Amino acid sequence: MEYCLGARNFAAMTVSSCSTWRTRRKTFRTKRNLIKYHCSSCKVRASSVNAGRDSCVAVKEDFADEEDYIKAGGSEVVFVQMQQNKSMDKQSKLADKLPPISVSDDVLDLVVIGCGPAGLALAAESAKLGLQVGLIGPDLPFTNNYGVWEDEFRDLGLEGCIEHVWRDTIVYLDDGDPILIGRAYGRVSRHLLHEELLRRCVESGVSYLSSKVERITESTSGHRLVVCEHDMVVPCRLVTVASGAASGKLLEYEVGGPRVSVQTAYGVEVEVENNPYDPSLMVFMDYRDIKQEVPCLEFEYPTFLYVMPVSSTRVFFEETCLAAKDGMPFDILKKKLITRSEEAVYECIMKEWSYIPVGGSLPNTEQKNLAFGAAASMVHPATGYSVVRSLSEAPHYASAIANILKQDHSKGRLARERSIENISMQAWNTLWPLERKRQRAFFLFGLALILQLDIEGIRMFFHTFFRLPKW
Ligand SMILES: Cc1cc2nc3c(=O)[nH]c(=O)nc-3n(C[C@H](O)[C@H](O)[C@H](O)COP(=O)(O)OP(=O)(O)OC[C@H]3O[C@@H](n4cnc5c(N)ncnc54)[C@H](O)[C@@H]3O)c2cc1C
Repeated sequence: MEYCLGARNFAAMTVSSCSTWRTRRKTFRTKRNLIKYHCSSCKVRASSVNAGRDSCVAVKEDFADEEDYIKAGGSEVVFVQMQQNKSMDKQSKLADKLPPISVSDDVLDLVVIGCGPAGLALAAESAKLGLQVGLIGPDLPFTNNYGVWEDEFRDLGLEGCIEHVWRDTIVYLDDGDPILIGRAYGRVSRHLLHEELLRRCVESGVSYLSSKVERITESTSGHRLVVCEHDMVVPCRLVTVASGAASGKLLEYEVGGPRVSVQTAYGVEVEVENNPYDPSLMVFMDYRDIKQEVPCLEFEYPTFLYVMPVSSTRVFFEETCLAAKDGMPFDILKKKLITRSEEAVYECIMKEWSYIPVGGSLPNTEQKNLAFGAAASMVHPATGYSVVRSLSEAPHYASAIANILKQDHSKGRLARERSIENISMQAWNTLWPLERKRQRAFFLFGLALILQLDIEGIRMFFHTFFRLPKW
């Protein structure tokens, strides 16, 4: 870790070679060509060529198509996987607390695929309603540094999972007066949120299999068959895919919808000599100019600093590109972060590579398998947030699923087979009713606008936005 070599000055580490992002964009394409992409065999071999100084071992993944590959990380896939595979010692293993799925038992009512916040919440809520629920996914900890509006987490009864609260949130757009948002912000404890959602799964009787799901098929009796690694097959009545944004192998998305864009952010949590920000305020956005000696285009592309000042000496800084068509690469964000900061750094506690696909198509709401969380396009297209939405919608969605399965139970087998499409349609309509789709179309308009604005446009937009009345 280059930040961990004792006291250093961020500014002194400014990188001098400064190719433009536009030139770099062309380079990405070339680099992407180095990453072998075979549509026919649906395989991508990501080399570490783009990893620079943070390089790690080469990875091999399967993706459904180009869009799915972009959602999984595109040319930044190596960093995305480093973020996903961080070890978090304090978090329990799911397999230590949940009973294993037994395929010899009765057919499960519901299988939830994916053990992120969305999957764990939905599995727990569905089992609480009396459904036999199996959860399937790799036994990985939560690794993302989640931030939430404190009131929203309190409303969910999850205030105990917030590890730090700032009494207010501030936005700096230029050298004029900053804007106080008047809303407290919280930093989620990954460990406590994981423990709490796992506790809910244990209490409600969710069973578990640690495996990646390869595909979902159908039996002759109309049951769904969840095919996992090593050809293990779990039969169930209904499947909900909550395996994150890159779920194209398990789900169909509407064809001809908007192309996905990407929010990227490079963050470091550091011990500094003097934190320049007031520790009582969370800095939602700092869009003030970065003072650089050699002007270059990639630095002009709008990015902001997201800052969680934990104490007078400990800070989490994250250089963030709100949205870009190709996703601003982490190496550019890192250069900008280094150029921006003037503090002497004593210790680097944590690095974060945040890659959030935003926008893109909705799932095809006529398919038999359901979805939830980022897989169901529930990430806000213009902000990248989704955790609160997934956690707050889980009980409602679970009860829609339970009601539908109850209706279905009373029917004979043949009628059940025929009604499966109808069943999933009802659940899809609960998740994506017309009004929600209309609202998302408006958020997509917001995203399209953000993609076009230069720094002055962004400042003018947010000056107006943050002065809108609360309603
Ligand atoms: C670094 C970072 C910071 C973020 N910060 C915030 C934030 O502050 N606030 C916010 O609201 N949002 C934030 N987001 C965006 C988004 O809310 C998160 O990505 C969130 O984790 C999405 O939750 P999820 O449960 O839908 O999917 P994920 O958290 O992506 O979970 C998907 C799970 O499915 C598993 N999986 C994948 N493929 C398979 C398969 N084939 N079979 C079985 N399992 C599979 C994965 O291992 C993973 O455990 C952040 C994202 C990142 C990357």
